[in-house]
Amino acid sequence: MTPFDLRKRVALITGGNGGIGLGMAKGFASSGAAVIIAGRNQTKGRSALSELHALGAQAEFVELDVLTEAPCYRAIQRAVERFGRLDILVNNAGTSVRKAPKDLTMQDWHLVMDTNLTSAFLCSQAAYPHMLHTGGGKIINIGSMMSIFGMPFATAYAASKGGVVQMTKAMATAWAKDNIQVNAILPGWIDTDLTRDARQQIPDLHEKVAARTPAQRWGTPSDFEGIAIFLGSPASDFITGAAIPVDGGYSIQG
Ligand code: NDP
Repeated sequence: MTPFDLRKRVALITGGNGGIGLGMAKGFASSGAAVIIAGRNQTKGRSALSELHALGAQAEFVELDVLTEAPCYRAIQRAVERFGRLDILVNNAGTSVRKAPKDLTMQDWHLVMDTNLTSAFLCSQAAYPHMLHTGGGKIINIGSMMSIFGMPFATAYAASKGGVVQMTKAMATAWAKDNIQVNAILPGWIDTDLTRDARQQIPDLHEKVAARTPAQRWGTPSDFEGIAIFLGSPASDFITGAAIPVDGGYSIQG
C-alpha cells in the first residue's frame, strides 16, 4: 500500500459532474476510491459517470442543489448508505456573477455566497459525524486566485473565496484532533464552463492569462487529479489548514 492508495476510501465531490470537480473525481477513481459526484445537471452527471466507470471506478451521481441545507445533508447520507462511509469531501460547487460592485443585487450576492461558501460549510458539517465515526477524513475546499487577489468584477466571488480560505483554517483547527484534515486548493485560470463565459465577456482575457502565467498556458481539469489524490490520501496526513495554489505559477508572478 502506497501513501497515495485510496482503495476502500469513499469521496464525494459537489459539482463533480464537470470541470475541475470531474478532474478531481478522476484522480480519486484512478487511485481506487469509490466516487459520488453531486450536482444539478443530470445530463452532465450521466456523461461524467460513464467517464468514471470507464476508469473502472465504483461511481454514482447524486442530484444536489447546494443552495439549501436539507439536500446537502441528504447527499452526504446517500454516500454513506451507498458505500458505507465517507472519507473525502470536496466542496467544489461554485458560481460567479461578474458585475461592478454598484450593479450587484442582493440576489446576486446571496447566489454567489451561498453556492461558494455556505454550501461548503453545510456539506462539511454534514460530513463531520461520519468522518468522526470512522476515525478521520479529508475535506478539500476549492478557493480561487480571488482568495488572495481582487478584480473589479468579482466583489461577491472574491468575498466568498476569501471566506473559503478562512473557513478552511478555522475548521482545520477545530477538527485536527479528530484526524480530519481540512485544506483548500486555489486554482489559477482553468479552461472550464465557468471561464468560457468570462473569456467572452472580458476582452483579451485568454491572452492576458497565458502571458501572466509562468507555465504560459491555462490549466485544465486534469491538472487537479494529482492534488486531489495527494490531499485525499494518507500522504497529506500532517497537512491541514493549507491553501495550495494550482496555478502554473500565476500567484507568484510579480
Ligand atoms: P464548472 O462550471 O465546470 O463547474 C462548477 C460546478 O458547480 C458545476 O459542475 C455545477 O454543477 C456546480 N454547481 C454550481 N451551482 C451549483 C448548485 N447550486 N448546486 C450544485 N452544484 C452546483 O466550473 P469549474 O470547474 O471551473 O468550477 C469548479 C470550482 O472551481 C468552483 O468553485 C469555481 O469557483 C472554482 N474555480 C474555478 C476556476 C477556473 O478558472 N475555472 C478558478 C478558480 C476557482 P451543475 O452543472 O450540475 O449545476
